[in-house]
Amino acid sequence: MSMKDETLCLHAGYSPQNSEPRVVPIIQSTTYVYNNMEEVGAVFDDPTKSIIYSRFANPTVMAVEQKIAALEGGLAAMCTTSGQAAVLIAILNLCKAGDSFVSPIQIYGGATNLFAHTLNKLGIECIFVDCNADEETLNKAFKHNTKAVFGETLSNPSLAVLDIEKFAEVAHTHHVPLIIDNTFATPVLCKPIEFGADIVVHSTSKYMDGHAVQVGGVIVDSGRFNWQNGNFPDMTNPDVTYHGISYTESYGASAYIIKARMQLMRDYGVYPAAHSAFLLNLGLETLSIRMERYCQNALKVAEYLNASDKIQTVTYPGLASDKYYEMAKKYLKGSSGVISCELKGDRGNAIKFINALKLASIEVHVADIRTSVLHPASTTHRQLTAEQLAEAGISDSLVRISVGLEHIDDILEDIGQALESVS
Ligand SMILES: *Cc1c(COP(=O)(O)O)cnc(C)c1O
Repeated sequence: MSMKDETLCLHAGYSPQNSEPRVVPIIQSTTYVYNNMEEVGAVFDDPTKSIIYSRFANPTVMAVEQKIAALEGGLAAMCTTSGQAAVLIAILNLCKAGDSFVSPIQIYGGATNLFAHTLNKLGIECIFVDCNADEETLNKAFKHNTKAVFGETLSNPSLAVLDIEKFAEVAHTHHVPLIIDNTFATPVLCKPIEFGADIVVHSTSKYMDGHAVQVGGVIVDSGRFNWQNGNFPDMTNPDVTYHGISYTESYGASAYIIKARMQLMRDYGVYPAAHSAFLLNLGLETLSIRMERYCQNALKVAEYLNASDKIQTVTYPGLASDKYYEMAKKYLKGSSGVISCELKGDRGNAIKFINALKLASIEVHVADIRTSVLHPASTTHRQLTAEQLAEAGISDSLVRISVGLEHIDDILEDIGQALESVS
């Protein structure tokens, strides 16, 4: 039975049998018991049969993994302790020292640090491209050692909508997979696998959790990429750390996600606790219905700001005047809840506006159920020089608003009174 998102959010991943708990139970145990040595030994040969240790598998977390895989239309998923860990493991599962991958420059700041500096220290090069580059330019970026392409559906914080089909086509021409960070869109607004993505990652800390209670991440495998093309020996050749298993031979379509779990999660140990997954699941249950309202409220706020004479520019892909409006129509069912706008005048005006808001809180976060605001130039992008700020498209007067689920009248009234205080 193929179910719609609203239903998957509530039911996928857990179907209680007679007299079992209605809600996914928290199985807060590091380990699991076996009847005899033969049975526990067999699990080491085939980890898909059972669970042995909560550093890389736990029943509560796995129920949530199945729910997210179902929502993304993927084969399987693996949760991580943060979105950063999901991005890290997704790349390390394909690239080792001496390899490279391609990524747009318009991505989350945490990913930029990881790609440009920390992975570089491990000998993995990120080749940065512009997210609007044409196919010819993208093709030229590839090197003989390029193993993956990365991109964000709706980029944080620049709100650029990626042409996923174009990026998938280019990646596949070079026989490497496309990894899409779908955090801002969530599977409710976009399912990147339908547009050719092979791997999807998320920071579940944002809309999936939604309530600002638990940092987390997830990697989803579409199960569609052909790893046996000569480009991925670690996927096809025997793994000496795992009794000589070839992931493609033993696990077929699940090779990528099983390698991520049994090799990388085993070694790096960035697996969430059962209780964290339980909280994430509560958020997921209402994801579909919440996304609808975030989109509705944000569009109204964007239109309101657009009409104000105190505002210079509004960036929101749901506005017909936005650079990415057409791209958003193709890829997104709604433009999510984050807006950026520039106030007229100097930095002081932006700060005054933010300080005057009463309902919207100042938070270094987005996708909270409550409306929040931030001034990127003095917080998340504080370390950048004036030149770098300009390059990243972040001006002194830029304000980022994450529209929440309060009544729209109250949100607009708050923004209106704060704009009044600005000269
Ligand atoms: C927040 C975010 C991340 C990092 O996730 P954490 O859960 O904070 O580690 C990665 N990608 C995007 C697009 C994000 O917004």
